[in-house]
Amino acid sequence: MVRRVVCPGSFDPVTNGHLDIIGRTSRLYDEVVVAVLINIEKKSLFTVEERIDMLQAVTKEYGNVRVEKFHGLLVDFAKQQGIPTIVKGLRAVSDFDYELQMAQLNYRMSGVETLFMSTNPEYSFLSSSRLKEIARYGGDVSGLVPDLVLRLLVERLRG
Ligand code: ADP
Repeated sequence: MVRRVVCPGSFDPVTNGHLDIIGRTSRLYDEVVVAVLINIEKKSLFTVEERIDMLQAVTKEYGNVRVEKFHGLLVDFAKQQGIPTIVKGLRAVSDFDYELQMAQLNYRMSGVETLFMSTNPEYSFLSSSRLKEIARYGGDVSGLVPDLVLRLLVERLRG
C-alpha cells in the first residue's frame, strides 16, 4: 500500500515555509500530493499554472512530490485521488482556531484525517500574502522564498 498524503494551499507563491512542511512530510510518506486551490474569487499574483510550475521546480529534488490543482472541496479531491490524510502547517495559535474547525468539518464530511505539523520557527511569521506585501514595497524577501520564486516575484511586481 502506498502511503499518500495531501498538502493543500494557494501557494501564491510557494514560500520556504511551505517547502519546509512539504519537505518534512515527504520524508514521512511514500508520496506527497501538493494540491493548488483554484479560487476564481480571490485575486492572485500568479496564475494556477505558474504556481504549479514553480512548485514542480522547487520540489523536484524530493523525488516523491506530485503537484496537482483542484477546485471545490478538498476532501472530494482527496477521495478521488485515494488520499486518506491532509497535512497542514501550523504557524501560530492564530492559525489554530480556523484549522481545527476545518479539520473537524472535513473529518465529519468524509472521514479524511488532518495532521498538523508545527512550523519551523524560522518561518512562523511567513505567509504568501505578507511576503507579497513586503516585496511590493521593495522590502528584501531573499531567504524567505527559493531563488527561482524570488526572481519571478520581483519580475512580476516590477510589471
Ligand atoms: P498562505 O497564503 O498563508 O501562505 P497558503 O494557503 O498558501 O497560505 O498555505 C497553505 C498551507 O501551508 C497553510 O494552510 C499552512 O498550513 C501552510 N503554511 C503556509 N505558510 C507556512 C509557514 N510559514 N510555515 C508552516 N506552514 C505554512
